[in-house]
Amino acid sequence: MKPNTEKTAIGIDIGGTNIECAWIDENAQIIHQINFRTELFETAESMVKMVSQAIEEHHQGHQYEQLVGIGIGAPNGNYFTGSIEMAPNLKWKGHIPLAEMFKAETHLPTVLTNDANAAAYAEMLFGGATEMNNFLVVTLGTGLGSGIVVNGEVMYGKTGFAGELGHTIAQANGRPCGCGRKGCLETYVSATGLKLTIGELLAVSRQNSSLRDLTNISAKNVHEAAIKGDALAIKALEYTAKILGQKLTDYITVFSPEAVFLSGGLAHAHSYLIPTIEKTINDNVLPIFKDTTRVYPSKLLEKNAGLLGAAALIMNQ
Ligand SMILES: [Zn+2]
Repeated sequence: MKPNTEKTAIGIDIGGTNIECAWIDENAQIIHQINFRTELFETAESMVKMVSQAIEEHHQGHQYEQLVGIGIGAPNGNYFTGSIEMAPNLKWKGHIPLAEMFKAETHLPTVLTNDANAAAYAEMLFGGATEMNNFLVVTLGTGLGSGIVVNGEVMYGKTGFAGELGHTIAQANGRPCGCGRKGCLETYVSATGLKLTIGELLAVSRQNSSLRDLTNISAKNVHEAAIKGDALAIKALEYTAKILGQKLTDYITVFSPEAVFLSGGLAHAHSYLIPTIEKTINDNVLPIFKDTTRVYPSKLLEKNAGLLGAAALIMNQ
């Protein structure tokens, strides 16, 4: 058996639908990948056992001389405790010490963080932020996640949960949020928020739109309609971008980042979002911060940022 001599990390990305596990080298190349359906596992214990077993089996046929360990990206993952805590999209409830559980099964060093912080590590190690010490990553998926990097370090705060920009208030007494409060940024700026905006626009306007014929509209439908020149779709994307631009104006004042990277499914519509976001920032930001922050699509938009981020997390230790 010829050993692999490159520095390698195992990244595990835990999502509500899939669990992906991959061996990744320093150049962000995926050497080997195994996927599991999350619903297969009634308990976190059974998941850890099966994934660890698959890792063990792969190691029987492949030797990695410089394997640094396992990095895990998970919803509501806490870097300090190595646990998943009350993740709304997973059926395993309560406090799950996932990093400890993997360590016990595999005897490999294991660290864990939430998926948006993993995206920040991925951008820092493999993406557009390799030369930056201060930047934000905003993940636009079902919700809005964020990773904040200050002076070269991901910001965790006292609890390990710092940087939940998605649950800062965009509109007082606004749309109801899954967190139980009202008007959170992610109820406007996310795939879910965009769908609500489209619904509202369709209800109040008589404008022709291809989206009127669809029963279940996705963010992808809106983006595709915008590409075809659908004015209502473009309006909805610009409304979304304006709200994000207003909130980013505040975050630029607080963090003074060099760049903001947009990641996640909705970020594919970046050419409709970024001009409005940048204009809103420039129209509203304090003069000393004018033109100091650029907004970019994530450089890893076409890659698996979750997996790369999980691997980057352990490589970066
Ligand atoms: Zn909320």
